[in-house]
Amino acid sequence: MRGFAMLGIGKTGWIEKQAPECGPLDAICKPLAIAPCTSDVHTVWAGALGDRHDMILGHEAIGEVVEAGSLVKDFKPGDKVIIPAITPDWNSLEAQGGYSMHSGGMLSGWKFSNFKDGVFGELFHVNDADGNLALLPSGMDLASASMLCDMVPTGFHGVELADVQFGDTVVVIGIGPVGLMAVAGAALRGASRIYAVGSRPNCIQIAKEYGATEIVNYREGDIVEQIMEKTHGKGVDRIVIAGGDVDTFDQAIRMLKPGGRIGNVNYLGEGDYIKIPRVEWGCGMGHKTIAGGLMPGGRLRMEKLASLIETGKLDTSKLITHTFHGFDKVEEALMLMKDKPKDLIKPVVLI
Ligand SMILES: [Zn+2]
Repeated sequence: MRGFAMLGIGKTGWIEKQAPECGPLDAICKPLAIAPCTSDVHTVWAGALGDRHDMILGHEAIGEVVEAGSLVKDFKPGDKVIIPAITPDWNSLEAQGGYSMHSGGMLSGWKFSNFKDGVFGELFHVNDADGNLALLPSGMDLASASMLCDMVPTGFHGVELADVQFGDTVVVIGIGPVGLMAVAGAALRGASRIYAVGSRPNCIQIAKEYGATEIVNYREGDIVEQIMEKTHGKGVDRIVIAGGDVDTFDQAIRMLKPGGRIGNVNYLGEGDYIKIPRVEWGCGMGHKTIAGGLMPGGRLRMEKLASLIETGKLDTSKLITHTFHGFDKVEEALMLMKDKPKDLIKPVVLI
């Protein structure tokens, strides 16, 4: 079978590989819609996972089951399914402890294009099919559904980590597709004022449509000063970090109220340490909590998030700025993600 792969750090190309084998609990799927991700760009061009050779890329796909293992109960060939980017082993001790995303070791619930070939292949393997696949609701648009694989659950997990409550004031740092979903998630959870930090005009427009009440543009001055001015020196209750770097935590602590929480879902690819400002952290006693986590993955979450699209509570189609047709276009779509033209939020390839 063919697949679009990382050949080595900074190198990509089409390769031929043996089709994956289906274990008794697994499924083999073919992609119907795939979306490249900033993580794919980090993997290839920043070498974020270390060197990988001939590893098929991609972790965001809507697919069709072509083979189901002998012990799989709820899925059969022909089923159209949502495949989460994170596919834990649900019978692991880590999953039993509530941290499915770390099943088998820290961050090891992330398997596609990390420990095994990803979804940019003509066929791909899904472990623990009953635990990880979700049926695609009938009639749901494939491109909209593909945002359920990573963008929605990751953005929403930032909101969960920040524990947004009714009436909270919230800052969302970074309004790429994940940050935009954090804005939408904070609004669904009943936040009052939502300050979205970003600069791209189309992202700003869509952030407002998802519920941002104010925009903070980092090109117009220090974001901490802007937030402190807007909140009359008090700061905010919750912060979701969906962009930036190791220095973003310093800024977040400075604009967070005592008792506040920071939820980080941004992948930190560089730097050895994160600095916490001592005085603004209450000299260690400010009750300012920092939580960072990989999204949980799994079928139940996929089904619940899909129901938000089905019931009209969430419209993910706003994220999709570029649509390609045909499997071969995955290369072009990934390069678009790498080059990040100004009007790009998220590309999708329909197959
Ligand atoms: Zn992704």
